[in-house]
Amino acid sequence: MRKKVFVTRKLPEEALRLLESKFDVEVWPKEEPPPKNLLIEKVKEVDGLCCLLTDKIDAEVINAAGDQLKGISQVAVGFDNIDVETATKRGIYVTNTPGVLTDTTADYAFALLMATARRISEADRYVKKGKWKIPWGLMMMLGQDVWGKTIGIIGLGRIGFAVAKRAKGMNMRILYYDVYRNEKAEKELGAEYVELETLLKESDFVTIHVPLLPSTYHLINEERLRMMKKTACLINTSRGPVVDEKALYKALKEKWIWAAGLDVWEKEPTDPDNPLLKLENVTASPHIASASYETRTRMAVMAAENLIATLEGRVPPNLVNKDVLKVRPPSE
Ligand code: NAD
Repeated sequence: MRKKVFVTRKLPEEALRLLESKFDVEVWPKEEPPPKNLLIEKVKEVDGLCCLLTDKIDAEVINAAGDQLKGISQVAVGFDNIDVETATKRGIYVTNTPGVLTDTTADYAFALLMATARRISEADRYVKKGKWKIPWGLMMMLGQDVWGKTIGIIGLGRIGFAVAKRAKGMNMRILYYDVYRNEKAEKELGAEYVELETLLKESDFVTIHVPLLPSTYHLINEERLRMMKKTACLINTSRGPVVDEKALYKALKEKWIWAAGLDVWEKEPTDPDNPLLKLENVTASPHIASASYETRTRMAVMAAENLIATLEGRVPPNLVNKDVLKVRPPSE
């Protein structure tokens, strides 16, 4: 009997074909996530679930699963939407897609940094709304230089390192803060490890690349925003709740810092009346840092390969919860 897989959104053809070559696959056809009660029904009968970060796979969903459910394959590197602890207890393999989106996300973080520093989205609105009256203004729409400045990277993992490489190309001083030292970045890129407070005080650009964890929730709060330079830009392409949006609004409105570039939000989609959206010094985007044709295909194929390995009784290449191997060894 072929195993069954439920996929919570349409995947790129290549990934879908791969899954269909092995399993009976059902795909949720809509853009928005499937409702919780449907997820609960599906996990009672399928062997594998392939999901996105907007699907809440919490304890209620996982505990509803039958014993046949062996794999939850997330099409993303972050997996804070999945209750991994409960999955481990239930012997369910959780996988993600690290690495394949690193450079694409780093490109975007740097693009957002430059757009924020040089007011690109504001300039675009200015021209399109017919506000451009003087041919060339000496003091018109001045921004912050990026080259040669100091960048502070919070979380120097895969994406943080790739951002540091780009910063090196811009001749920037690179500071970083992480729970681990990164000797490779120190040796190859001249990155300097500093405490978070020093990073905030000395950086012209603060860019966040930590996962969302209890220890990183509201890591950037009022107290820390007050430590930043008045000319500094805050860039967030990690997860929205790492930044306290209310405090950030105050910081931008009262000019404790100069600008922010935000790809991720405390609530997604963010409310159209989120006060941050009314500020000219906020460059906003809808969680698209990994959104390139090539990368989204690579992520989906990787997620399909992870699920195939899991359901064929092998250890999947990107297993998040290694402890699960003790609860359910791979061949079972
Ligand atoms: P990674 O695991 O390679 O790097 C994360 C780094 O953060 C690690 O070096 C880790 O030690 C550090 N860290 C963890 N907790 C910390 C703490 N409390 N203080 C300081 N440092 C801490 O992950 P990655 O592949 O670089 O991805 C990072 C995050 O970026 C993902 O978890 C995801 O949430 C986010 N992301 C967002 C997008 C997007 O579309 N906006 C795309 C890809 C990834």
